[in-house]
Amino acid sequence: MLGIDLGGTKTEAIVLSPADVVLDRRRVASPTGDYDATIRLIRGLAATAEDRFGPLGGIGIGIPGALSPASGLVKNANSTWLNGRALKADLAAALGRTPAIANDADCFVLSEAADGAGKGAESVWGLILGTGVGSGIVVRGRLLAGPNAIAGEWGHNPLPRPKDEERPGPACYCGKQGCIETFLSGPGFAADHRAHGGADLSPTAIAAAAADGDPAAAASLGRYLDRLARATATVINLLDPEVVVLGGGLSNIAALYTGLPALWPRHVFSDRVLTRLLPPLHGDASGVRGAARMARKYPEKFSN
Ligand SMILES: [Zn+2]
Repeated sequence: MLGIDLGGTKTEAIVLSPADVVLDRRRVASPTGDYDATIRLIRGLAATAEDRFGPLGGIGIGIPGALSPASGLVKNANSTWLNGRALKADLAAALGRTPAIANDADCFVLSEAADGAGKGAESVWGLILGTGVGSGIVVRGRLLAGPNAIAGEWGHNPLPRPKDEERPGPACYCGKQGCIETFLSGPGFAADHRAHGGADLSPTAIAAAAADGDPAAAASLGRYLDRLARATATVINLLDPEVVVLGGGLSNIAALYTGLPALWPRHVFSDRVLTRLLPPLHGDASGVRGAARMARKYPEKFSN
């Protein structure tokens, strides 16, 4: 089984054996802004894998968006050059077979719920904080999927309980302002730090500076945590997931795993908050492992 995680900045491919052993793993830069090059890249990754391992059967591809059940075209991708494209049909022509295509956050949570941080939990909310913000939900081993293919697309809800300086909020590629994603994505975090006079740093560099005692970085991290607490509390109030697993580049920030649960009691409607917040067991590989798993587990659901 071949899994491909088509990210905004990087694309990763793994070959997963029937016993879930990773036989091969590759990571390359995504051809940002270039749809035709994206198709060529995926065709090349599949050809390389089959040269080495022979026919692989199904191919699962996680994308930063979804295939519209209404039109079959990509929608909701923050890699906006994919939107409106017949990705599935174009890849089927390029690969000589129809791939299973699913939202990258759905792939991520499927992987972490199956044999990752959420293994054994009744309900798992997998939350990706990276180039964009997305999430997926697994309940009793089943991925939650709805008629619009948007389950978990909480990044385009408005930031809850906004403060005056957070209104109307930054413009989002979706056409609205003040979406959760504009505050909680990696670029959103970095832009907020700059807007408050900070240097042009990555989120992990801001967190590292905060840990070293830089007051401006600590203030930025504090604002980020407060917004993340407000935004996640609304989901906990609705779903009450047993485990919340973080993914994406910002899941490497250790301060989130202490800072966020410390803030939840202010916003979650409960006397105590027993929700477990965990880093991904498979790290950056969760999305691509889930893509391979998706091709195996949901070929019918995501092959329309
Ligand atoms: Zn938006």
